Amino acid sequence: MSIPTVLPDSRATNPKRGQYRDGQWWVPVYCANCGAELGIVPEPSTTFAFFLCDARCAETWAPKAGEMVEPDVVFFQTLLDEQLDRYGRELTATELMAALADETHPIHQLVRERHDELRRLNPALVVPAL
Ligand SMILES: [Zn+2]
Repeated sequence: MSIPTVLPDSRATNPKRGQYRDGQWWVPVYCANCGAELGIVPEPSTTFAFFLCDARCAETWAPKAGEMVEPDVVFFQTLLDEQLDRYGRELTATELMAALADETHPIHQLVRERHDELRRLNPALVVPAL
């Protein structure tokens, strides 16, 4: 599978611009085209956000955005490709849990790399321990 183009992230690059609400920190999100502020998302549980504002930005850019994918889509395809390449099939849930428990297993390493990437992009993100 060729690697698709990943959508840009609409979250604020400076999380200090956020606000504390309902027991957690929220960060602003902006239109990926014109930069208009469109709302807020909870920082600790959001790994990605993509927004286009009003009909004009959406009309112009939604078709192009429809050809792109969220970062998690690329990660999950990579995880599936690893299983198909290594085992010729998708692993069962039990087999995946065993792979994740083995720090030397390539699937554990792929998940570790994704966790590290997510933490680098958002140090406040809550991700399960491996
Ligand atoms: Zn816009």
